[in-house]
Amino acid sequence: MKIAVFAGDGIGPEVTAQALRVLDALPIKVSLIEGDVGGVAYKRHGLPLPAETLVAAREADAILFGAVGDFDCDHLERHLRPEQAILGLRSELGLFANLRPAKVFPGMEGHSALKPEIAGAIDLLIVRELNGDVYFGEKGTRTTAQGLREGYDIMSYDEGEVRRIAIAGFEAARKRRGKLCSVDKANVLETSQLWRDVVIETHADYADVELSHMYVDNAAMQLVKSPGQFDVVVTGNLFGDILSDQASMCVGSIGLLASASLGERKTAYGTFGLYEPIHGSAPDIAGKGIANPMATILSLAELLRHSLGEEQQAARIEAAVAAALADGVLGGDLGGTANCSEIGDAVLTRL
Ligand code: NAD
Repeated sequence: MKIAVFAGDGIGPEVTAQALRVLDALPIKVSLIEGDVGGVAYKRHGLPLPAETLVAAREADAILFGAVGDFDCDHLERHLRPEQAILGLRSELGLFANLRPAKVFPGMEGHSALKPEIAGAIDLLIVRELNGDVYFGEKGTRTTAQGLREGYDIMSYDEGEVRRIAIAGFEAARKRRGKLCSVDKANVLETSQLWRDVVIETHADYADVELSHMYVDNAAMQLVKSPGQFDVVVTGNLFGDILSDQASMCVGSIGLLASASLGERKTAYGTFGLYEPIHGSAPDIAGKGIANPMATILSLAELLRHSLGEEQQAARIEAAVAAALADGVLGGDLGGTANCSEIGDAVLTRL
């Protein structure tokens, strides 16, 4: 099993180091290949995503990614900015399915923006399509016949794009509680009607998964009204962008949220993917050793689950994080005082 480790900028190296300590404590044999990404890669190689990093990514079964973002690079042309590393990896590696689990760990209910009794029920996964939709359609500005400036972005999905993300959603539901809710706007959008038709067709191969459909406006409402009803939510790029951020904030802290981006390539053990915390490089706290590494440790759990077929080890890590939180091991993001390595120690002890 080969993992490419791209720690990146800011707190990226600090939080990744703690995840690697956890990996090292597991009874599995993995080889690691390190690579530069982001601002650090620009400073060393003149590019945020150097060719050798991409080679390392392609040779691996999975990528553990820290964060990119460096204010020193904000004056650079867009293609040289650190953030291009993650966008480049997603497109070069065909990572089209973004999985964002949102779960409120016991005892953390008070950190949610929702009432504790509602927040406590959150244990869901958003599967967002990443490579299509209105973000990638024809776009531009023009002048109308009345001489008014007009902007346009074309929303489109072909059935192949919908089928592969629907499969990712069904597969994820199978590994969880067996419920998939497809979110669209089929009452007004043709793209959504095709989306719904293809999801229903794909369901024929996943009869063991319970499928439901919801319009996106209702989904936004239900996510704050009764989030406990959701297991897996599958949706397009635009709706998923908004709903996944909404779901993360229902959980409370950015320092606890992991993500996975999966492609179609199968490895010997599962599906190739890139795993990263949802937070950025946090330049305001970088180098102080106080970042919460739990989101990266939980990203490692997702990596073991999806790319290495190590569900049992993934569940062990999640249980160790939950136990540390339940014992009051809280980083600054959760109002606590535990620093980055102390949180790593606490997770290791409970592992
Ligand atoms: P950010 O997520 O880096 O930080 C937002 C706030 O949350 C900051 O106050 C930070 O200190 C805090 N925070 C974030 N992670 C934390 C952790 N693990 N523990 C404790 N506190 C934590 O977002 P930002 O400040 O908007 O962006 C900073 C840089 O990161 C920018 O250059 C941005 O482009 C980049 N960014 C990168 C990614 C990525 O690598 N995928 C994602 C988002 C932002």
